[in-house]
Amino acid sequence: DRVKVAVVFGGRSSEHAISCVSAGSVLTHLDPERFEAVPVGITPDGAWVVGPSDPARLAISGRELPEVDGTAEALVLPGEPGRGLVRLDAREALTSVDVVFPILHGAFGEDGTIQGLLEMAGLPYVGAGVLASAVGMDKEFAKKLLRAEGLNVADGVVLRPGTDIGFADRDRLGLPLFVKPARAGSSMGVTRVTDPAALDAAVAEARRHDPKVLVEAAVPGREIECAVLEFPDGSVRASLPAELRYNGEFYDFESKYLDTSELQIPAKLDDEITESLRWKAITAFRALDVQGLARVDFFVTDDGDITVNEVNTMPGFTPSSAFPKMWAVTGLDYSELLSTMVDTALARGTGLR
Ligand code: ATP
Ligand code: MG
Ligand code: MG
Ligand code: MG
Repeated sequence: DRVKVAVVFGGRSSEHAISCVSAGSVLTHLDPERFEAVPVGITPDGAWVVGPSDPARLAISGRELPEVDGTAEALVLPGEPGRGLVRLDAREALTSVDVVFPILHGAFGEDGTIQGLLEMAGLPYVGAGVLASAVGMDKEFAKKLLRAEGLNVADGVVLRPGTDIGFADRDRLGLPLFVKPARAGSSMGVTRVTDPAALDAAVAEARRHDPKVLVEAAVPGREIECAVLEFPDGSVRASLPAELRYNGEFYDFESKYLDTSELQIPAKLDDEITESLRWKAITAFRALDVQGLARVDFFVTDDGDITVNEVNTMPGFTPSSAFPKMWAVTGLDYSELLSTMVDTALARGTGLR
């Protein structure tokens, strides 16, 4: 019998469209001999719908981004955030599958919320559990745990709602600065600030995505990513690293999905630095107590100074995304990668472990 996999995508975050594109790739590459995929979309308002059955609809065409359409399909869970948890009909729809693949990025998906729902339902799911998802999404707390494990992270300050950056912090952090929402992704709301007069606008822009904002010193170095994967036997491996090459000042939304940025895999680095990066990627994975998978983003200088930028517990799976490409070069093709992820989820199950 084939394993029934609910592929849940879209969602209420600003990364809705990117999640749709990731899901399109996942639905295309899931091994049809082993898995029966049930696509479950979440509209930007939070309504759960079944479909679409054609993954080709979940793609970027030109500059047009896809979206889950809540009117055309059958509702399985009316999205009523704030008005109760799960309706009986939705629980039935979800428990009729063997495992859930929440290919959701950002808030209400990559942040432990759906993971908590699935734990309550006793349904195995792909990827990190509640704690790691929540911590990975929150750059304030992720950095604390990474630092506690001895990894370098960017110097910075956290601006909670209603607070502003002080003079001493401004002096220490210097210029350029990076301003970003504490809990977002796909570079949404991230600004590189070179002129002090532009700082307030950058903070306001980040606050459109999250009332909590990070202001960081710019970290020098090339941008390198490493893909970490857990196998069904519980072992964890790090892929060969990728270097991100892009036009422009930093790796923004445009260069991620719409521009001609390139990935060089494996990244051209000394063997010693490559091994150190792979080890640090696994250290970061363990520091946040991640399960399943994570993409760890680094800055690496020519001198071999390595700084962890962040840990993404549900990285992009779009056709241009680094995670599946890094594994392909490391020897696991897209379909084998997805099979591993689902098998690991099934082997792990739910509950404390
Ligand atoms: P992702 O899509 O990887 O989840 P994200 O929205 O979580 O992205 P970051 O990865 O933190 O955001 O930042 C996006 C990009 O901004 C980085 O890839 C890098 O180009 C730049 N950047 C962010 N912080 C810094 C920093 N402190 N120093 C230098 N560049 C930075
Ligand atoms: Mg991120
Ligand atoms: Mg992300
Ligand atoms: Mg990143």
